[in-house]
Amino acid sequence: MYHSSVIEINKSAYQGNMKFIQRLIGKKTKISSVVKGNAYGHGIEYFVPMAQDCGQNHFCVFSAEEAVAVKKAMKNEGTVVIMGMIENPEISWAIKNGVEFYVFDEDRLINAVKIARRLKKRAIIHVEVETGLNRTGFDREQLRKVVKILKENWEHVEFKGLCTHYAGAESISNYLRIKQQLIAFKRLSKYIEESGLKPVIYHTACSAAAVRYPATRMDMARIGIMQYGYWSNMETYISYITKKEGRKNPLKRIISWKSKVMSTKKVKTGEFIGYGTSFLASKDMKIATVPVGYSHGFSRSLSNHGRVLVNGERVSVIGTVSMNSFTIDITDVPHTKPGDEVVMIGDQGDLSISVSSFSEMSNQLNYELLTRLPRRIPRVIV
Ligand SMILES: *Cc1c(COP(=O)(O)O)cnc(C)c1O
Repeated sequence: MYHSSVIEINKSAYQGNMKFIQRLIGKKTKISSVVKGNAYGHGIEYFVPMAQDCGQNHFCVFSAEEAVAVKKAMKNEGTVVIMGMIENPEISWAIKNGVEFYVFDEDRLINAVKIARRLKKRAIIHVEVETGLNRTGFDREQLRKVVKILKENWEHVEFKGLCTHYAGAESISNYLRIKQQLIAFKRLSKYIEESGLKPVIYHTACSAAAVRYPATRMDMARIGIMQYGYWSNMETYISYITKKEGRKNPLKRIISWKSKVMSTKKVKTGEFIGYGTSFLASKDMKIATVPVGYSHGFSRSLSNHGRVLVNGERVSVIGTVSMNSFTIDITDVPHTKPGDEVVMIGDQGDLSISVSSFSEMSNQLNYELLTRLPRRIPRVIV
């Protein structure tokens, strides 16, 4: 089956990233690989078995649907935790399959108990507490009830984790808020322990928190963006790198996205190129069409802004990105012909296009650009 572009995933870059992260956060903290959003666009079905080959066997997802995909993709034993959406029929699936899940409201907890009792198998739960993000999680008042339910139903629920999530650990402007969240978490942990319960693990950190606030690492860090080779934002990178000798970025992008030239043509001075009038040829030009458009995740806001690599040169996207193609200026690489490789993300020769340069040009976050890469683009592990 022909596809107009391909995504490559670099296994040795992944191994390098994981080694670096583990060294950074210390051996005592386990890493959970966060693979929500189709593994940040890398593709769950490709990424998960590759991660398992590299010894990573703990995964966090957002929804039950994603948990099903991870379970299907796993080639070895492993742990899957649902941090967000799960409904009653899915709770029954999760319990049967040993899939762990967050509990952040009473109804879900009560349902989990009921279903576990019926199935005669324990639900494995992570109790999320509210520490200041104000998204999901039990506050102190609600915890009283949670403790009671957990104590009365210990044979139906395993209290695996106590957890929370920070409100933007990547930015120093949130420093006080994060510190207060950590204090709140400690206070709630103490309350739980004093009422006679103890979770197996405590976990609070995402990538940025794990880098910038060592106290948040605890038993496990939920690492998303960093394992794919990116710092959460520029600030997090700078805060790390300025303290280091050598100043070489230890993280490596594991994804590349490539296509091929579909056709080329000459355009005369004074002609418009593509839809509308956004690009006027101010000289005689040679252009090439690449069969990737906004329907493939190449944002329309890269019109007249994007850059790609072809024949070892960095060239400009000209005109409007359309649904299935965009046009590039190959006047300076005139020998370019159909079939030549076009790199949207990745390296060619000595040049490189990073996801962040790409996303700066289109005003997207790394996170957003990656997760918008469509499922149907084939992935290959290299
Ligand atoms: C997405 C997510 C993470 C991982 O965040 P990164 O910044 O990608 O490391 C961790 N915890 C929760 C609850 C999340 O939703």
